[in-house]
Amino acid sequence: MKGGTAQRTIQYNTIKVPLYPTPEQEELFQKTFGCCRYIWNQMLADHEEFYCATDKHFIPTPAKYKTGAPFLKEVDHQALTQEYNKLSQAFRNFFRNPSAFGYPRFKRRKDDRDSFTACNQFSPSGSTIYITRDALRMTKAGLIRAKFPRRPRSGWKLTRVTVERTKTGKYYGYLLYACPVKPPEPVEPTAERTVGLKYDLAHFYVTDGGLTADPPCGLRQSRDKAAAIQRKLGRLQPGSKNYQELVQKYRLLHEHIANQRRDFLHRESRRIANAWDAVCIRDDSLKAIAGELGGGAVHASGFGRFRELLRYKLERQGKQMLEVGRYTPTTKTCSACGAVNETLSPRARRWVCPVCGAEHGRGKNAAVNIKAQGLAHYQSRQAMEAVS
Ligand SMILES: [Zn+2]
Repeated sequence: MKGGTAQRTIQYNTIKVPLYPTPEQEELFQKTFGCCRYIWNQMLADHEEFYCATDKHFIPTPAKYKTGAPFLKEVDHQALTQEYNKLSQAFRNFFRNPSAFGYPRFKRRKDDRDSFTACNQFSPSGSTIYITRDALRMTKAGLIRAKFPRRPRSGWKLTRVTVERTKTGKYYGYLLYACPVKPPEPVEPTAERTVGLKYDLAHFYVTDGGLTADPPCGLRQSRDKAAAIQRKLGRLQPGSKNYQELVQKYRLLHEHIANQRRDFLHRESRRIANAWDAVCIRDDSLKAIAGELGGGAVHASGFGRFRELLRYKLERQGKQMLEVGRYTPTTKTCSACGAVNETLSPRARRWVCPVCGAEHGRGKNAAVNIKAQGLAHYQSRQAMEAVS
């Protein structure tokens, strides 16, 4: 599977770019968002009708709707094609794993994201989507003024763009690039260069060395502010000018919090992936944890995202994430002697092993166990492969 080092693989990178459309371009984008929802709902309804009549799955292509709905011709056909692809994918996901994905739903303007995606089409005369020094060029919209936080490297190929309008009215383009890279040299995990991580409600995570990562304190302040605004909203007349202004303020703050959280997760996962050769982590169902803890939900969902970010950041360096099964007892097991302390209270932050007398911090002890288990699984897997 690994192949020679001369071989190249494709990695995908996204550059997020603020867009500054003209009023005409903004109108076109709004129309496109609407048309995408329209076509999605039409295709979904027709799929249902067809299925009821024939017991077969079939989704008509977007082109078929243009005679009945000529306004569809005003927007980029690529955006509609993408809706077709997304709906087909949603059905494939649903049939493969209904409990995880659910049946595709109709989209309503008020609870749907305003976005559309267009794939780049290449032809001898050039490509439909490209960037200039200060603009993004798309079909129908033409040149849209843009501010690039970074530029693609040479050899990167722009494959598709998603345009999004946030709830506060800002526009962003997500430029997806296909980047040929040399596959990284696989890095062998060793005990010295491996870290164990335990999800922790108070500190986000604890390492087997006892280090913690605390979310930035600004995040807490922002959340308190958001809660205060919500209380104030409850006292105002819905629809009044003050109410509208406060709603806008709330949305801005909400976006700010989301950005802060994303930055924190990226920074932490980058730091860990660069500092260590392998990471042992438990394959916890964070949904279940969030359900049990209620208030910790925000954190727990963040940890799931963190784990995914960490995984791909490690993989890109040829490093591994060694996952430990979610039912492996790690918290109640003494990392010094291996005895299981069944009497451990779910609230105890510190505890003393009744068998060997070792003193433990709850999170650190679990992280030590996770690291030992992760490495043990890895070594036994290696041994098995060597035999076969
Ligand atoms: Zn012990």
